[in-house]
Amino acid sequence: MFSESDANSSDNLPAFVAFCLIFLGILIGVSFINYQLFHAVVELASVVVGVSISALAWNSRYYSASRFFTVFGIALLGSSCLDLMHTLTYKGMGVLPGYGTNSATQLWIAARFLHSISLVVALLLINRPVKPAAILGGYSLAVAALLWSILYARIFPDCFLDGTGLTPFKKYSELVICLVFGIGMLLLRARRQQFSGKVYVLLQLSVLAAICAEFAFIFYVNVYGFSNMVGHVFKLTSFSLLYLGVIHTGLRDPLAVVFHELKQKDDQLVALNGQLLSANELLEQRVAERTADLNNMVEELHQKTSELEVEVAERQKAQEELKVAMEMAKAANRAKSSFLANMSHELRTPLNGVVGMAQLLDMTEVTDEQKEYLGILKTSADNLLSLINDILDITKIEAENYSLNNAEYSLRDAVAEVVKMQRRGIDEKGLKLSLELPDEIPDAVTGDRVRFMQILSNLLSNAVKFTEQGGVQISASVREYRDSALLLEIVVTDTGIGISPEFREHIFENFTQVDESYTRKYGGAGLGLAICSKLVELMGGDLWVESTERQGSSFHLMLPFVVPSCPNAVEEYRRTSEEDGIFAATHALPVLVAEDNPANMRYARKLLEKLGCQVTEVTDGRQALAEWERGDFKLILMDIQMPELRGDEVVKAIRQREQDTRIPIIAVTAHALNGDRERFLEAGCDEYVAKPFQMETLADAIRRLVVPDGQE
Ligand code: ADP
Repeated sequence: MFSESDANSSDNLPAFVAFCLIFLGILIGVSFINYQLFHAVVELASVVVGVSISALAWNSRYYSASRFFTVFGIALLGSSCLDLMHTLTYKGMGVLPGYGTNSATQLWIAARFLHSISLVVALLLINRPVKPAAILGGYSLAVAALLWSILYARIFPDCFLDGTGLTPFKKYSELVICLVFGIGMLLLRARRQQFSGKVYVLLQLSVLAAICAEFAFIFYVNVYGFSNMVGHVFKLTSFSLLYLGVIHTGLRDPLAVVFHELKQKDDQLVALNGQLLSANELLEQRVAERTADLNNMVEELHQKTSELEVEVAERQKAQEELKVAMEMAKAANRAKSSFLANMSHELRTPLNGVVGMAQLLDMTEVTDEQKEYLGILKTSADNLLSLINDILDITKIEAENYSLNNAEYSLRDAVAEVVKMQRRGIDEKGLKLSLELPDEIPDAVTGDRVRFMQILSNLLSNAVKFTEQGGVQISASVREYRDSALLLEIVVTDTGIGISPEFREHIFENFTQVDESYTRKYGGAGLGLAICSKLVELMGGDLWVESTERQGSSFHLMLPFVVPSCPNAVEEYRRTSEEDGIFAATHALPVLVAEDNPANMRYARKLLEKLGCQVTEVTDGRQALAEWERGDFKLILMDIQMPELRGDEVVKAIRQREQDTRIPIIAVTAHALNGDRERFLEAGCDEYVAKPFQMETLADAIRRLVVPDGQE
């Protein structure tokens, strides 16, 4: 509890106590020889202590924040004055003759009242702002008033009467003084935090000794009585302790007494400084940690940046390589496309002859055996043609060299045409066909009619191909129809062999068939569905299959269409009395056919003659131009790949030379690649028929060109 300075002063305490005890012993000894001397020394010692404390308190009044020592010190000056007067008037001293024991006792009581009450007051004012000069003035007046009332006016209550001894006032006063000192002790205890530990203990002991002294004086019998001597010894002890607590400690350890608050503040400052230092240390540690973190991050960043740089460089390199690879791929693709175009052309030309001749042969008188062979020949040629078409399609789609035509057409007619194409196969197998096209489905739609028919035709032909009994069904339903956008679901269902779940997963891949026995049994190359699925994808639709083995399959075709704003537009597509229209228009129609391949020429001539046309043949471009100039033709069938002058060059020349009239020209060519049609139409042709063509295809083209409006 005591500070370092407490400990230092404590070192001298035993010596001081020993000195006091020796001094006390001498004094007690002296009291037996000369009581007045004993009394005078005791009282003067307490007066000296009181005055010293006053001097200390007064001189430190500006530094001490605690007002206890200021008030109590000034008060002790007052009580010391009274004590001095008490000593001087003491019985037998003879300093102030005329004043007896009563006056000395009254001065004593007055001094003790002042002493005890001031202790309480000083403790109460400990933290209040007080003016030392005012306190000093107040005490001076009080002391003067007390001295006046005791020594001059003699109005102070009697304390000692000769003959009866102490008056009750004196005795009760001692008790009251004890009580006030007791209150002082309690207050002191309550404010102990304001004192250093040592000073607090010494003050408490001093007050306790003062109380003891008062008790001793209650039993006062006579001036030289034992209790009187004990009372004075206690008083001396009380003041010695006061001296020890205030003067001795105040001089040796001023921080403990006068500047106690300062010390407290200093301690707080030291503690604060300590906290600050540790906070600073912590801060420095944190800063160091953060700096280290930051450095690590910067390093990581550097590393990442260099990694990124390497990656960017690698990517750039990869991109360049990719560019080169892409160029190479494009070049390869171009080479492939041109190879395919050539191959397709080269294959189609002879195939056209084969198909044409077979058709013509079929129209002649043949034996049953020959008819059978002819059938096989036709089927093989058809299969070959469809294979060429499939391969061409898939290559074009995969080379992304494929664009869809967008034109208005009749959905119902397209479906009907597909059914018509497959009708023979359905009837041959004795299958039942049902068609469900509810009225809610709009008829006129915009899209690629040819491709739509190709998809549906493929699905229907597969359904027929893989169904031995039962039937096939085409049903359509509207999934969504908003403004002019129509989402249609067309389902082709059969009761055929079905598809196993494992196979179903790969069914839309190129060249996919269950096994080779299928090819033998059912024909086909496994390309149809792959083409369908790719076409559907191009159209922005979806194609999927649901199937149960040995029960049948359902191919779902979901396609978006644009519905033209005018619903009657479909009527433009509706063809009625097809045969009448064509025959009326082509009867005796003079037609110039330019074709260098004899078989094809023969095929074309025969077809045209069947339509009633009058055919003039030419076998190269120059002849064609010359013949056109000479004759009066109503239609030209122009092969494109011809010697001397190419077909498109002839067409261009004709278009340049024509004046008022414009002769309809149909380009007939094995060039079936994407964009060919547009190229020929641009050259001046009006229609385009790809070799090998069927009679209906050619008839259709002729009908479109020569049937006058309103005849259909
Ligand atoms: P293919 O020309 O060989 O018919 P596709 O791509 O059209 O080629 O069909 C691939 C295979 O899918 C067929 O060989 C057949 O095994 C199976 N398949 C297609 N449609 C059906 C169907 N309706 N019922 C059963 N199997 C089918």
